[in-house]
Amino acid sequence: MRFLTGDNRYRKLISVAVCVMVLFALLMAYFFVATELHHDCCGEDCPICATIDICVNTIKQLGNAVGAIVFVLFVSAVTHNLHKLYVYHVIPHTLVSRKVRLNP
Ligand SMILES: [Zn+2]
Repeated sequence: MRFLTGDNRYRKLISVAVCVMVLFALLMAYFFVATELHHDCCGEDCPICATIDICVNTIKQLGNAVGAIVFVLFVSAVTHNLHKLYVYHVIPHTLVSRKVRLNP
């Protein structure tokens, strides 16, 4: 449990590992569906069709998650830039805010 509380290196490492695993699962699902889309179907209990259904559900769920993450990152970037615009252009600068020392 040390990675949850202390060092940021463990958090970054685990975050990168989770991102890589999610992208790997998404890409593998895409590749499986793309390669097996026109398979020789054996009928109602086809294991390839069942796997394609699982892959499509995985793509839908992870696609929704990736879309939500992209939306959150976009909103975060926009609010960060709006904050920077507000701080640098709307708030008037004073000698104190610019840390100008008047006494020699
Ligand atoms: Zn099939």
